[in-house]
Amino acid sequence: MNVIIIGGGVIGTVLTHLFSLRGVNVTLINSGLQKPRFPLIHSKLLRFPEDIRLARISEDVYMELSRELRVDVLRPMESITIIPEACYNDALHIMSMWYEVGAKVRVISDVHEYGLKRVNDQEIYIFSTNGDNFVNYLSLMNRVHKIDGVNYINGTATIKFSDHDVRVLINDNELKGDYVILASGAWNSIMIRNAGLNVPLLPYKCQAAAFISRGISTIVYDYVLNIYVRPLGLRIDNALNKLGLSIIVGGDGNSKVTEPGRDRGVDREFLNEVRGKVRARLGRVLLIGSRFGYCEITPDMRPVVGTVGSENLLLIGGFNGYGAEVGPALALAVVNYVISGSWPDYARPYLIDRFGNNWPSTWDIGVEAHELCV
Ligand SMILES: Cc1cc2nc3c(=O)[nH]c(=O)nc-3n(C[C@H](O)[C@H](O)[C@H](O)COP(=O)(O)OP(=O)(O)OC[C@H]3O[C@@H](n4cnc5c(N)ncnc54)[C@H](O)[C@@H]3O)c2cc1C
Repeated sequence: MNVIIIGGGVIGTVLTHLFSLRGVNVTLINSGLQKPRFPLIHSKLLRFPEDIRLARISEDVYMELSRELRVDVLRPMESITIIPEACYNDALHIMSMWYEVGAKVRVISDVHEYGLKRVNDQEIYIFSTNGDNFVNYLSLMNRVHKIDGVNYINGTATIKFSDHDVRVLINDNELKGDYVILASGAWNSIMIRNAGLNVPLLPYKCQAAAFISRGISTIVYDYVLNIYVRPLGLRIDNALNKLGLSIIVGGDGNSKVTEPGRDRGVDREFLNEVRGKVRARLGRVLLIGSRFGYCEITPDMRPVVGTVGSENLLLIGGFNGYGAEVGPALALAVVNYVISGSWPDYARPYLIDRFGNNWPSTWDIGVEAHELCV
């Protein structure tokens, strides 16, 4: 069996490892347009039961990769979820689902010792262990190049449909595989559109800002101010921690639909807004950098998998801001589909068929499926 994977980002990397561990021949084509520069968050503290299940299975996938590749892919992190009192009853139900997947959660009365400030009197703090991890994607990506038998091609692929078959074109060559898997993130919909079809996917710009702050060691999901804040998670943290400082990364869910390459930098309004909110929660911080990339959404803000245009073209995408949280479980579902011909039950809510032929030509970015209190 030969598979061609187009895109070596978060999903393509996991797919490549999983296929090759199962003895499937892989050709991975990657244009290298974007890759994570710091560990990504994997969190089971999500809103929907189906997503929580994916996050749980993704954790198993990461553990398999840690074992097989002999590298610590996951680094457990503590987190504090801050919610308005008004959403506590809803949160109680969600917290019981977190508990079922192994997260230990408790309400705490004060967050001062974690370097955080109370912003108003109607907020509740949920402290969690075993709910979150940092994922070392940099090492997973570096190891892809070293897998025996993986044909790694640096370049930009295009696809063409002919006679219900899909052809992959790269560097003036045509490649053939039993399956072609499109894992090109924000570029998925553009590639498919260029091949004459449409899919319910849109690219958008996702952004983050980096600050120097007092020492922070927990991830903070703040649904009062609608931001997240997290330590950078690189070695430099240790040196700064000795000085009582941290580099933290923060962002919010706000962004705009735009095609990759159209924008030149991080939006000034984004930086001003995030800086103001991070200061409200952490006190004095110094903005030291910012970064943007391109992410991808579906009309219902949940990921998609399934065949498109041809029985042997599989699409996996639409991960917006939580690809490292739920993506590996769907990557495993794709691997199972290719090997056994059927989708595992947990993947069914994400099949592309749920949209039928009925989706808008464009739509706004909604609330990300992992956000609480909406
Ligand atoms: C700053 C920032 C921070 C984030 N933090 C988190 C986090 O902490 N946790 C989390 O879960 N998510 C996070 N995300 C979101 C996460 O990065 C995405 O959900 C995830 O990358 C989606 O994975 P993907 O493989 O679908 O797309 P990508 O990771 O974008 O990978 C797509 C790859 O396809 C390649 N490609 C595109 N077109 C072609 C082509 N024609 N031929 C060959 N290759 C091609 C690109 O070079 C790219 O490498 C963050 C995003 C940003 C920008």
